[in-house]
Amino acid sequence: MSTKIYPKLILDALRNVRYPGTGKDVVEMGFVSDDIHIDGMKVSFSMLFDKPNDPFIKSVVKACETAILTYADPNIEIKGNIEVKTAQAAPPKAAKLLPQVKNVIAVSSGKGGVGKSTVSVNLAISLAKKGYKVGLLDADIFGPSLPKMFNEEDARPLLEPIDGKEYIVPIEKYGVKMLSIGFFVNRDEAVVWRGAMAGNALKQLIADADWGDLDYFLIDFPPGTSDIHLTLVQTLAITGAVVVSTPQQVALADARKGINMFTNEKVNVPILGLVENMAWFTPAELPENKYYIFGKEGCKALAEEMNVPLLGQIPIVQSICEGGDSGVPVSLNENSITGMAFASLADSFVASVEKRNAEHAPTQKVEVHKQ
Ligand code: ADP
Repeated sequence: MSTKIYPKLILDALRNVRYPGTGKDVVEMGFVSDDIHIDGMKVSFSMLFDKPNDPFIKSVVKACETAILTYADPNIEIKGNIEVKTAQAAPPKAAKLLPQVKNVIAVSSGKGGVGKSTVSVNLAISLAKKGYKVGLLDADIFGPSLPKMFNEEDARPLLEPIDGKEYIVPIEKYGVKMLSIGFFVNRDEAVVWRGAMAGNALKQLIADADWGDLDYFLIDFPPGTSDIHLTLVQTLAITGAVVVSTPQQVALADARKGINMFTNEKVNVPILGLVENMAWFTPAELPENKYYIFGKEGCKALAEEMNVPLLGQIPIVQSICEGGDSGVPVSLNENSITGMAFASLADSFVASVEKRNAEHAPTQKVEVHKQ
C-alpha cells in the first residue's frame, strides 16, 4: 500500500534539492509555486525561475523529480508533471536606459592587442570631427586604455545632481564624451573583478552618467567573449557591432568567433562590419610602400565569407602607436594618411549604420483616401 501523498511531503522532499552555487534549496529560494496538485499518485506543480535562459533549469527539474521519488514515495507519477515558468523580466532597453542616444555601437575583437581601442578612439574622434555627437565608453574592464589614449589619466569625473539624483559627468575631450572604468579603479583591482561586479560597474557608467544627446555611443568591449558581453548586450539595445581584427589567421579565427557571438540568435546583434587593423606596414619615409607582414587581405576574405562589410583597412604606422601613447590620436590630423584612413572608416561606418537602420525602420502604413 502506498502512502498518502500531501503537499508538505512533496515540499519536504524538494528541500533536498539545492540550487547550484547558492547553498540554498529550491523551496527556500521560492522556486516552487504553491499550486501543488495531488490526484492519487499523480503530483504536478510549477516552478518559477528568474531567468528564461537560466542554465540550470533542466538539471534542477530533474533533481526535483528524483528527490520526490527518493524522499516522498517511489510510486509518485511526477515525470513530465513539473511545469517550468520564468519571470520574463524584459531587460531595460536603450530606449529607456539611454533615451537620448540614437545608436549604441559595440566595438569588439576576438583577441586582445589587435588595436580595438585604437580603432574605437580614432573612429570616435573622426565621427566628432564630422559633426556627430559622440560618446565613448571604455568597457574593457581588464585593460582600460582610454584614459591614456586621451591623455586624461589623472582625470576624475565629477558628479552632478539632476532632479535629485547624482549623475557622473563624462570627460569631454577632442569633441568626444568619454568614460572609462579606469577612472574608478586601479588596474590591479579590475583584474580580480568577476563578471557580476564588472557588469554592475559598467551598467552604472551607462545608466548613471549624463551622456546627453548622442548620435553614436561607442562601447569599447573587452576582447573575446565573456559574460560581460552578455550583460552589455542584454542591458542595451545595441544597434550593431564593429569587429576589429588583424589579418593573421589566428586573429581571424577569433574574429569569426566574435562575429558568431553577436549574430547568435539569443544575442542577435547585427554586424555593421569588420575593420582590418595593421593591414600592411608603411614606413614613414616611403609612404607609397606597403608590406603585408601579417598576410594580405585576410579580413577581406573573412568579410566575404561571413557576408559582412569590410569597413576599412588601417595600416601599421608608427604615428598610430605614438599617438595612442602620447594621448594625441592620429585622427586629430585629418590631413595625415592615417587621419584620412580613419575619416574614410568613419564614412563607411555611418553608411553601414544608416543602411542597418533603414532596414529595421518600422514600415509606415499609408492610407489612401478616395476623392
Ligand atoms: P586592443 O584594444 O585590441 O588590446 P590597442 O588598441 O590597445 O589594442 O593596441 C595595441 C597596441 O598596438 C597599442 O600600443 C597601439 O598603439 C598599437 N597599435 C594599434 N593599432 C596600430 C596601428 N595600426 N599601427 C601601429 N600601432 C598600432
